[in-house]
Amino acid sequence: MSDQLKDTGFTTRLVHADRILNSPEDGSVHSPVNSSVLFNYPKVEDLVDIFQGKVAGHAYARTSSSSQSALQNIMTHVEGGKASLAFASGMAAISATILSLLEAGDHLIASRFVFGNTATFLQSLKRFGIEVTLVDVTDVEQVKIAKQDNTRMVFLETIANPVTQVADLKAIGEYCDEQQIVYLVDNTMTPASILNSQSVKASLVVNSLTKYIAGHGNALGGIVVEMGNFKWSEFARIESGFAHLPDFQQVIAQIKKRGLRDMGGCISGQSAHLVSVGVETLALRTTRFSENALALAQYLDAHPKVKKVYYPGLESHPQHQLAKTLFCGFGGILSIDLQDNVDCFAFMNRMKLVLNATHLGDTRTLGIPVAHTIFYDIAQQEREKMGISQNMIRYSIGIEDSKDLIADFEQALA
Ligand SMILES: *Cc1c(COP(=O)(O)O)cnc(C)c1O
Repeated sequence: MSDQLKDTGFTTRLVHADRILNSPEDGSVHSPVNSSVLFNYPKVEDLVDIFQGKVAGHAYARTSSSSQSALQNIMTHVEGGKASLAFASGMAAISATILSLLEAGDHLIASRFVFGNTATFLQSLKRFGIEVTLVDVTDVEQVKIAKQDNTRMVFLETIANPVTQVADLKAIGEYCDEQQIVYLVDNTMTPASILNSQSVKASLVVNSLTKYIAGHGNALGGIVVEMGNFKWSEFARIESGFAHLPDFQQVIAQIKKRGLRDMGGCISGQSAHLVSVGVETLALRTTRFSENALALAQYLDAHPKVKKVYYPGLESHPQHQLAKTLFCGFGGILSIDLQDNVDCFAFMNRMKLVLNATHLGDTRTLGIPVAHTIFYDIAQQEREKMGISQNMIRYSIGIEDSKDLIADFEQALA
């Protein structure tokens, strides 16, 4: 079936993926929302075979459902992987993946610049005996220095939020490959239309579907995609019960049973459906918000009331050259420091189109004062070490008309 999508462009594949990969009934172009929790098998032997993994099928919606598997088929195709597993949220996907694959005594190297809730989750790992070293992932050498004999995994985000550091993705991927370390990449900031995760040798890609993939602020979801680059049969943490499966299925089965089933963070049929529809316009939205963000970054960079602009598309950005080689477009996250004498809240309250909201990847442009909200739990001294000033604002640039966005900033800064 997916032969029909071979050799077609990315947007074509997004638009036709659900119809072709999932063959919904009646000529429907969308897989339907399936809200059933239970599945009935008139022959009990069929139910038994599903439980025992002898045939594919659904038994209970916490582990699998047709809406969830329809979304998984689409996302596996979009990321260019082998298989995937959907979750209730990005955090459910990240926590289930890490907790399914590491155990007490293992060492994880993680980026120092990660999403706030991921950072606090990584702190919790210490309570379970998993050692975590945080490093500056803009340079592969830092990862090499942190490597220990018990290092099992490297985890990072592609473009960090809010300071927009770009990870040395390809070099770290090559190093993990050489060392046989699991390379777990959170690709939320640079979904497949911006970064081809295959090109950086990711072992597993995790994504908050809630953000750019769903795109419209109407569904929570997360996914982990197996990319076919890692020898799971040689990974010491795969349980013997999964060792008979083909390589890539070993890790998916383990995350499915230990993570999704046992921890329970499953995606609802309704959310899976909304994400599947949202992803159809991913490439169009990506191009648009990347263009809008670059235009705004250039405008703000030249504005006297703005002290500093953080955006990988600006030539002054420390990883601009790296970003150019890795990405198609520079994404929609842009942060600014206002001049010290500009009242940050008064400025934000003057905006007419830009919403004050904590989310990103939406069709609408959103702004948030970082120190007072998403990094409020972190002491000011710590924040300053992370490069977060008192009046930094983080924007997630939407798909509005660029001239309207610039005009909105212009009037609010005047
Ligand atoms: C939002 C986000 C997450 C968490 O996703 P949720 O769907 O909100 O749970 C993880 N990583 C990154 C980079 C994010 O931006």
